[in-house]
Amino acid sequence: MCVLTASFPPIDTTLHCVENQKTSTQIAPAMAPYCTTGMVVPEDDSEEALRAHARRTTFAIYHPVGTCAMGSVVDEQLRVNGLERLRVVDASVMPVVPRGNTNAPTIAIAERAADLINGAAP
Ligand SMILES: Cc1cc2nc3c(=O)[nH]c(=O)nc-3n(C[C@H](O)[C@H](O)[C@H](O)COP(=O)(O)OP(=O)(O)OC[C@H]3O[C@@H](n4cnc5c(N)ncnc54)[C@H](O)[C@@H]3O)c2cc1C
Repeated sequence: MCVLTASFPPIDTTLHCVENQKTSTQIAPAMAPYCTTGMVVPEDDSEEALRAHARRTTFAIYHPVGTCAMGSVVDEQLRVNGLERLRVVDASVMPVVPRGNTNAPTIAIAERAADLINGAAP
């Protein structure tokens, strides 16, 4: 398993995972006695096998974010670019996948948005 912790763009994440897979392949024999379910490793250490393994085993640990990313869709006050009186207030404004859980940052975004809507200084 490869956990997504890198930021966008996705191609960098894929390469990051491929590099991690090389390390996993190297340490798999030594770790085998300590793994109850066995380590999931690539077929071999070819670039093609590593990329296929990364595609097969990578997931976003239930943290999909960024479909209305700050910078491209909304500005720093969560206002939708090019539209008036419309903000986005949820995890979709996160410009990168956070390394940790998303629930607390989402609540923080909502608290901040409430302040902004109430006229607090940006
Ligand atoms: C299985 C699972 C486990 C998780 N565990 C954790 C955890 O342990 N800790 C943690 O911090 N985070 C966890 N998360 C992540 C966290 O729940 C989410 O990141 C967070 O809830 C995102 O908040 P949100 O408001 O952006 O989206 P959501 O909570 O998904 O809210 C979106 C809302 O919009 C509504 N909606 C969608 N489309 C439309 C539409 N077209 N019109 C009207 N309404 C619409 C949906 O019905 C929903 O109510 C987990 C997520 C999952 C799926």
